[in-house]
Amino acid sequence: MKTNRRNFIKTSAIAAASLAIPSTTIKGIEKLNQTKPFGKMKLSWIPYDLQLKHVFTISGFSRKTTPVVLTKIEYDGLVGYGEASLPPYLGETQASVIEFLKKIDLSPFSDPSHLEEILYYVDHIAENNTAAKASVDIALHDLMGKMIGAPWHKIWGLDKYAVPDTTFTIGIDTDEAVREKTREVLGDFNILKIKVGGEHDKRMIEAIRSVTDLPMAVDVNQGWTDKHEALDMIHWLKEKNIVMVEQPMPKYDFDNIAWLTERSPLPIFADESLQRLRDVEKMKGVFSGINIKLMKCTGMREAWKMRNLAEALGMKVMIGCMTETSCAISAASQLSAGLDFADLDGALLIANDCFTGAKLEKGKIIASDLPGIGVEPTQKLSFGT
Ligand code: MG
Repeated sequence: MKTNRRNFIKTSAIAAASLAIPSTTIKGIEKLNQTKPFGKMKLSWIPYDLQLKHVFTISGFSRKTTPVVLTKIEYDGLVGYGEASLPPYLGETQASVIEFLKKIDLSPFSDPSHLEEILYYVDHIAENNTAAKASVDIALHDLMGKMIGAPWHKIWGLDKYAVPDTTFTIGIDTDEAVREKTREVLGDFNILKIKVGGEHDKRMIEAIRSVTDLPMAVDVNQGWTDKHEALDMIHWLKEKNIVMVEQPMPKYDFDNIAWLTERSPLPIFADESLQRLRDVEKMKGVFSGINIKLMKCTGMREAWKMRNLAEALGMKVMIGCMTETSCAISAASQLSAGLDFADLDGALLIANDCFTGAKLEKGKIIASDLPGIGVEPTQKLSFGT
């Protein structure tokens, strides 16, 4: 046994030595192992406006642009990219993100791989600002992955192909527009997501069903107020091959949501009801699962912890997104393997994506093989401070 193991170790060492390790990886590992400060991290940013391909309506809001702030952390020739996406209903703006980023002083930190320490500091600069914090977290993860020379799905030990199909969202619209949008995307996706919560829900579902039998998720965005009506609706939805329901009732209405979840034939997911790691435990017994979004939970580090906690509590997990470039979507794609649902269509909804990274393949958003979060900018972006 001992000999076999020794032989195995010897063979593995030879195999590793014969692998073509890129020089950037070696350089990165040297930087990871250094004992003395090698240089300083430099954080910079640029506001950017995402143009949506279609006007987007969820219960209460319509819009055709989403502001974001892109971030960059440079360290000894390596560059990490990040993003804060700022849909108006969440309260952060490009100005508030930039104001937050200006407060960050990375000079006391000599080692970018000390993510826990750096992100603890960033989190305690101010309350909230979760998207601004995520933009730093994502850039640091990108940088550290590049130092190691591996994408995060590999660092986390995940199979990048073992991800759920991404849902593609069809916004609230006229029957004809809904049918047309559905026809446009048939063949590219294996599951759709419909925003409901209005008086025309059944009509919209029927309109889509007249075009396709694909499974669908529904996102109510807190739109239902009566639990009995909600339960009736869920039974009707199940008959229509709807496979999950997101945030059916107001976010703090835990008692009624728990009542609904207990009786519902479909899994019920929390979105607006939770933000961060500290909220996960409260969701147990109220919802069947949670929707983790990097912009709500301050980024990849906390998202990974939330995922692990929810799984340990026996809850289902989905990963969601805002309207985002391929930068933040690629970051989210790194941790989507093995989850129950993925809603990572954010970059597919915009006309001016300025990154390449995770791509749509047979209905799934698959991370690239590049290190870090696996992205490259597709245009010159003038980052500043
Ligand atoms: Mg939602």
